Amino acid sequence: MFEDRSKKRTELGELGEFGLIDHLTKDIIYKNATTLKGVGDDAAVIHTKLTTLVSTDLLVEGVHFDLSYTPLKHLGYKAAVVNFSDIVAMNGTPTQLVVGIAVSNRYSVEALEELYDGIKLACEKYKVDLVGGDTTSSTSGLLISMTIIGEAATEDIVYRNGAKEGNLLCVSGNLGAAYMGLLLLEREKEVYKANPAAQPELEGYDYILQRQLKPEARLDIIQLLKENNIKPTSMIDISDGLASEILHICKQSDKGCSLYEEKIPIDATTVSLAEEFKMIPTVAALSGGEDYEVLFTIEQSDFETVKKLADIQIIGHITDKNSGANLITSSGAVIPLNAQGWDALKEKE
Ligand code: ADP
Ligand code: MG
Repeated sequence: MFEDRSKKRTELGELGEFGLIDHLTKDIIYKNATTLKGVGDDAAVIHTKLTTLVSTDLLVEGVHFDLSYTPLKHLGYKAAVVNFSDIVAMNGTPTQLVVGIAVSNRYSVEALEELYDGIKLACEKYKVDLVGGDTTSSTSGLLISMTIIGEAATEDIVYRNGAKEGNLLCVSGNLGAAYMGLLLLEREKEVYKANPAAQPELEGYDYILQRQLKPEARLDIIQLLKENNIKPTSMIDISDGLASEILHICKQSDKGCSLYEEKIPIDATTVSLAEEFKMIPTVAALSGGEDYEVLFTIEQSDFETVKKLADIQIIGHITDKNSGANLITSSGAVIPLNAQGWDALKEKE
């Protein structure tokens, strides 16, 4: 939909596999002292004195991304950052990235350059080294596999299962915006399909679109907590929506929780767009997903410190398992949370 068709097209066959890998990775400069060898040998070589964290993501065209409204540079950036976010959610620092791609000849060298521009931009911003990968052909579409390697001192690692009764439930940033961005893009895609001459109506929605197309990993938040001597007791990143992530923490910690609807941070533009879509903004936050904020629990004794930290909101607390995981609505009703967060709020209507 936003494609620039005027660009030059070089067929993948013109470069060949090795030419392509060289072309995409030749300008990489390694920033981490732990990277002893990156692209170019049979394996990358990493030496670290800390504990290693590893996480992987597989993205399939048509299943996980839609290229009709996702620019390839954004796709590369997002795929990398989403991976970094998993390391951040363990209270670790992402350090090295390995990227595998399977690509059909429908793609040009220029298209892959765009994808790699996005990946490299994310790596630069987060000081991650792109140390290797694999390149192969696909009979249909694009497949991207990313493996992120990170590090942390063993005692600093935060798991999902450490929440204790009385802990405070906290979240960074604001929620629901990425989902509203997705709805907006889907709406414009339908308009475009019906009338390709129509210009997309996306003006004034920059923030919402950016949250969907160019998310960030909250490495800044875990650094801020560390600077303030706060170690969360449990943590997870928000990829599937607040309700689903809270339930993961409760289940793995064998606890319940009270989440207060009025405390959930939602940006004003998310609220107005949700209203335009005749949706309850809380639903976008609870079940929308892809915000990549961090959800974590802290000791009550850290309350005074956390209260003063910018961009962190206390949204509830951990209870015993038998109380269940509940949403306390703005009108005071107590509703059990479910993974969609959605049915619960429907009952309210
Ligand atoms: P091998 O045949 O030993 O698997 P390759 O020819 O696949 O080696 O890769 C050569 C080098 O290029 C390796 O260091 C590999 O990690 C790197 N590489 C291959 N594909 C990619 C890619 N898509 N992105 C980044 N590095 C890559
Ligand atoms: Mg290989």
